[in-house]
Amino acid sequence: MPHEFSFRRLFIPVNRGSDVLNSLRFALKSINMETISTVKGLQRAVKKTRLVPLGFVPTMGALHNGHLSLVRNAVSSCPQVVVSIYVNPTQFNDKSDLKNYPRTIDDDLIMLSAVLREKDIVFIPIDKEIYPEEDKREFHFGNLDRVMEARERPGHFNGVAQVVSRLFEIVKPDIAFFGQKDFQQLAVIRELVRQTGNKVKIISNPIIREEDGLAMSSRNRLLESEVRKKAGVIWSAISEASSMIHDHDIPFLISYVINTIEKAEGFHVEYFNIVDDEELIPVNTKEEMKKGKRYFGCVAVKAGKIRLIDNIEIPL
Ligand code: AMP
Repeated sequence: MPHEFSFRRLFIPVNRGSDVLNSLRFALKSINMETISTVKGLQRAVKKTRLVPLGFVPTMGALHNGHLSLVRNAVSSCPQVVVSIYVNPTQFNDKSDLKNYPRTIDDDLIMLSAVLREKDIVFIPIDKEIYPEEDKREFHFGNLDRVMEARERPGHFNGVAQVVSRLFEIVKPDIAFFGQKDFQQLAVIRELVRQTGNKVKIISNPIIREEDGLAMSSRNRLLESEVRKKAGVIWSAISEASSMIHDHDIPFLISYVINTIEKAEGFHVEYFNIVDDEELIPVNTKEEMKKGKRYFGCVAVKAGKIRLIDNIEIPL
């Protein structure tokens, strides 16, 4: 057994589905580690060893190198790191999306074991631990709640705010790491932290891509192979648009992105907006882009049956 397995500490639920449990039993047999399933257990363990700054990487599992880049960054800047794996039901406005969301817990543990250290913790709660009662809280994020993902996925960011605030309350991290891939989510979380007065520092990490430029995503594994072969078009369209900004105005860039992506059979662009990175207000002309602000082109694409998002900075 590779020696790096011997010092992992994992917090694993005892009442998951039997298939997951069997996988976990297999993993646990191979890895000599403590297992605790509860919020109480996690908090007790963190209290016992708490090193500062405590880093936190929340994920929904089905891990890939994008997630691992966050974990590596956390490990390099924090003496202790908590990684959570939890598919949060309240952020899925589409129940079939929740049902089909990939769950690969045994592979996730193996990937994490290559990066985490003795004091680091993997937290894998069940629904009852995160939501002992139904979470009825409603969050309001102004314009962040009205554009792009918020418009296409009503209630999504309320669910994100519920789970992230709950996880922050449980883990109490000093620094939390999120990916630039979920551009709007990052803005929502920064706003959530502002509104709640939480002292946690939010770090954003660059997007990690496949060789053809497709942004890594847990959902990529759900793409049909014919669709996957063409999916690099999303990145090529937005990166070309980004370099066209000096010679063309925004309506041209928007048509360019939509037409280029939709030339691929089975691809439909839900939106391509150029927005600032704080309030996410869409700009319609270059004159509306203000000096001192940063702008990003954000796209959502239905690729076959799967919804993908990506973004790129649009230089002024
Ligand atoms: P998820 O498991 O999809 O909730 O993602 C967990 C975290 O990983 C979020 O902060 C994401 O933004 C981040 N993430 C997902 N994909 C990537 C990627 N390709 N590059 C960098 N970060 C990513």
